[in-house]
Amino acid sequence: MTEDIDRDVFVRIQTDLLVVGDSIMTDRHHASNGNYEDNDPQNQIGGIIPAFSLSGWLRHGMEKVVQERDGTACHPGEPNANFRKDGVYNRDLDAGYHEKGACLDDDDDDGCVILDLFGGFENRPGKVMRRPIQFSPVRSSVDYTRGQAEGHYRRINRNVVSRNEEDNREPLRNAELDAVGNLDGCWHLSFRETKPEFVALLAEAIDFLDKHQTDFMHQLGGARNFGGGIVDCNLVNPLYEEHELRRVFDRGKGKTQKMEEKDETWEEKYLPTFQEALAERVIDV
Ligand SMILES: [Zn+2]
Repeated sequence: MTEDIDRDVFVRIQTDLLVVGDSIMTDRHHASNGNYEDNDPQNQIGGIIPAFSLSGWLRHGMEKVVQERDGTACHPGEPNANFRKDGVYNRDLDAGYHEKGACLDDDDDDGCVILDLFGGFENRPGKVMRRPIQFSPVRSSVDYTRGQAEGHYRRINRNVVSRNEEDNREPLRNAELDAVGNLDGCWHLSFRETKPEFVALLAEAIDFLDKHQTDFMHQLGGARNFGGGIVDCNLVNPLYEEHELRRVFDRGKGKTQKMEEKDETWEEKYLPTFQEALAERVIDV
């Protein structure tokens, strides 16, 4: 059945406000001809959201799914790393993680499903490639089949003012945040190898993240105390063809009958089979 699943899968991501710590690459320089003004509402430009924050958000969701299935997940940090607090690493090991790479028996082994997907131990490449999301304020130029999104870049200025009464709210510093507003689009993931447990884990993790979208731990990027990073997400049915994927984002059109049928087939036939493979793989570790 995995042969019916393309290596390329898409996650729909919708959020009102996204602030990513690793910064957003924008095309403001050539778009604005040198006249870019941060606070001009007309100046809506596009850019690229790097995959780092997205990847960490997804990984955390996947770890939770593994743990809820009574498995343990690879710890994301090296055991010999200098953790800022003593005991953090050991505390994590008691709370659903195993030491990174401890799941590898011999050189041919793929390790646990998290290590297999994300790699990173002794230069192992992960089997899921996480791409950046290119976004544009011009809807007609967004190609969802290439993992793009509608959205616009804003620079948010925050004045941090003094709380001392005698200072009369004197500004202490000005913080600038890169943000994307009203994002709606596709995150493109590619499996280097498609295994049934990978697809099931992705589906369950995206479902988990959607259900826990307001939990502080499962919001995306920064500015979480201010409502940033609350993400509606869902896995676009991997059985859809390109024109069907595009239709998902067409507000004027609903699902075709064929899409409805594919949704049913996915829910009733494919997903349960893949979930069985996931259950076996999780118990394995
Ligand atoms: Zn592991």
